[in-house]
Amino acid sequence: MSRKKQEAPRERANVAALQARPHADVLIIGGGINGISTFRDLALQGVDVVVVDRGDYLSGASSASSHMIHGGIRYLENGEFRLVRESVRERNALLRNAPHYVKPLETTIPIYSTFSGVVAAPFRLLTHKQGKPKERGALLIKTGLTIYDLFSRGGGMLPRHVFHGRKRSLAKLPGLNPKLKYTATYYDASVHESERLGLDVLADGIAAGSASGPAIGSGSASGSDASRARSANYVEAVGVTADGVTLRDRETGEEFSFTARVIVNASGPWTDLTNEVMGSATDLMGGTKGSHIVLENQELFDACHNREMFFENDDGRIVLIHPLKGRVMVGTSDLDADPREPAICTEEEVDYFFGLVSHVFPAIPVDRVQIVYRFSGIRPLPRHDDTQPGFVSRDYAIVSGNAPDLPGTPVLSLVGGKWTTFRALGEQLSDRVLALIGVKRTISTEKLAIGGGVRYPTTAERRAAWVDTHRGEQTSARAAQLLERYGTRAVEVLDSIAADPDQPLAHDPSFSTGEIRHIVENESVVHLLDLVLRRTNHAFTGDLTIEMLDELAELAGDVLGWSGERKAEEVRGTAEMLTTFHGMRLDGHVALSA
Ligand SMILES: Cc1cc2nc3c(=O)[nH]c(=O)nc-3n(C[C@H](O)[C@H](O)[C@H](O)COP(=O)(O)OP(=O)(O)OC[C@H]3O[C@@H](n4cnc5c(N)ncnc54)[C@H](O)[C@@H]3O)c2cc1C
Repeated sequence: MSRKKQEAPRERANVAALQARPHADVLIIGGGINGISTFRDLALQGVDVVVVDRGDYLSGASSASSHMIHGGIRYLENGEFRLVRESVRERNALLRNAPHYVKPLETTIPIYSTFSGVVAAPFRLLTHKQGKPKERGALLIKTGLTIYDLFSRGGGMLPRHVFHGRKRSLAKLPGLNPKLKYTATYYDASVHESERLGLDVLADGIAAGSASGPAIGSGSASGSDASRARSANYVEAVGVTADGVTLRDRETGEEFSFTARVIVNASGPWTDLTNEVMGSATDLMGGTKGSHIVLENQELFDACHNREMFFENDDGRIVLIHPLKGRVMVGTSDLDADPREPAICTEEEVDYFFGLVSHVFPAIPVDRVQIVYRFSGIRPLPRHDDTQPGFVSRDYAIVSGNAPDLPGTPVLSLVGGKWTTFRALGEQLSDRVLALIGVKRTISTEKLAIGGGVRYPTTAERRAAWVDTHRGEQTSARAAQLLERYGTRAVEVLDSIAADPDQPLAHDPSFSTGEIRHIVENESVVHLLDLVLRRTNHAFTGDLTIEMLDELAELAGDVLGWSGERKAEEVRGTAEMLTTFHGMRLDGHVALSA
C-alpha cells in the first residue's frame, strides 16, 4: 500500500469526537498513569468516560520516575504498612499482568555500619517527621528486610533476601567501596518502558469502550464520538462555566464546554492548580522535585552486575544507581518545589549524584561528558509541614469537592499515587465514581493482563515459538526485537510493516520506517517530542542527532500532514526542549530548517 502525502495538517479526530458529543458520565482531567488507570477501570465497567491531558499523555510526574515497581521497603520505617502491603501485591500482579515491561529487579544495599539508625528509626515511626534521618545500619536493614520478606513473598514469586559480609560482597561486586561491612540483596521489580506501559493501559481502556474492538485508528488510540471511552492529549481544562468544564485544544486554541456527571481531578502535582481554575481552590498538594541523570559509562554499568544499587547517601536520603537500557540511571533528589515552575535537573543535583556514585564505587570515575540525558519531575505528594521531604507519606487519598459553577457535579481530587499502585488506585477511584453514578462493578482488573502482556511468552522456548508463528516475511531476529519492544502487540506492528514499504531508519537501523509510521498513526503522536521521549527510547539513551530528528520528522510529518515548514519547526522545537530540559547535546546540523 503506497501512501499519499497529505498537504494539510490532519484534523485531530479525537478532539473532534469530544466536540461532537460534549458529554460523558465521567471526565478525568489528567492523563498521567493514575488518570489513565482510572479511565481503563471505568471503561471496563461500561461507564462513558473521557480522559484529557493538557500535554502529552504521561508527560508529567509519570515520565520522571525511577522506574521502580516496588513494595517500598523504606515505607516500613514510616509505619506505612497498608501501603507496603498494597504495593507488594500490586508489584506481584504487574509482574504477571505486564511481563513485557515489568521485570524482577535484583537490588543490593551496601551497608557501612552495624547499628546506626536503630534509635532514630522507631522514633521516626512514632512521629513521622523527626529531624535529620540517620544512616541505617545493618541491624535495622536486616529487620526491615525480614519484615519485607513476610509481606512480600505471599505468592513466592521472588526469592528471599540474603546478607553477605564484606569479603563475600567484594568478591561478588569488586567495584564496591572496600569500606563497606555488609551487603543485603533482595528483589523488587523495575518497569523498563513506563510510558509504553501507560499507553498500553490507555489503549486497553479505549478498546473496552469501543463496541467494535480497539478503536485505534485515525486520531489514534483515542476513541470515536460513538465510543464510550474517549481520550485526547493536548486538551486542557481551563475553567468552568454553567455550561460545563471549558476545554481548550492546545493545538488550535479552540475552546468548548464539556459536561459530565462526575469530574475526576487527576492532575498529579497540579491538582490544586486545576481546582483553582475550576473555581474551588484547594491546598492539598506539597510536591517535591526529583531528578535523575543517565550516564553512558560502561565501567559503572558492568560494576552493577545487572543489579540496582539502592542505598543511603551521607544525608540519609535513599538513592539509587540503576543499570537500564544499556545506560546507568542515577537518582534521585527530593526538594520542595513549586509546580508552576518547570522541573529541571540542576548542576548542584548533578554534583550530588556524582558524590553518591563515588560513595558506592569510589574507583570508578564519572564525568559530565558521560551524561546523555537528564530528567526531572515533581512527585504529587500531599501537603507536608515540617516532615523531611524523603519521609512524606507516599500513600494516596481521594478528596471530595465541587466546582461552584456546576452545582450537583461532584469533583474527586486525587492526592498522591505511585506508578507501582496505579491499578489499585484506579480501582478505588473508580469505585468512588461508581457509587456516585449508581453503577455496579462488573469486572476487576487485578488479574487482567495489560496490552502487550496478553499471552506474553515468558520462557525462551515460548518466545522462539511466538516468533516462528508471527514473523511472516521478517527475520526471526527482527520479530524477536519487536516482541521485546511491544510485547504481543508486536503483531500489530508486524501487520503494519508487512502492508507498507518498509526499510531500516538511516540513522537507527534498529527501527524501521514502517514501524515509526505505525507508532505515529496509532499512538496519538502530536509532536516530534512525543515520539522521541515517550514512544521510543531515543532521548533516554542519548541516541539522537539532528539528522535523526530530521528523518523522524519526515516520517511523522507524512502521516500527520505537516508542511516542510512545520517539520523544520518540530525539529527545532524538539532540539530546544531536549537541550533545555534534558541537558542533551545534539550533534549535527538542522537540515530541514532552510
Ligand atoms: C523523581 C520521581 C521518582 C519516582 N519514582 C517512582 C518509582 O520508582 N516508582 C513508583 O512507583 N513511583 C515513582 N514516582 C511516583 C510516580 O511517578 C508518580 O506518583 C505518578 O506517576 C503520578 O501519576 P499521576 O497520573 O497521578 O500524575 P502525573 O503523571 O503528573 O499526571 C498528571 C497529568 O495532569 C495533566 N494536567 C495538569 N493540569 C491539567 C489541566 N488543567 N488540564 C488537563 N491536564 C492537566 C498533566 O499534564 C499531567 O500529565 C516517582 C516520581 C518522581 C517525580
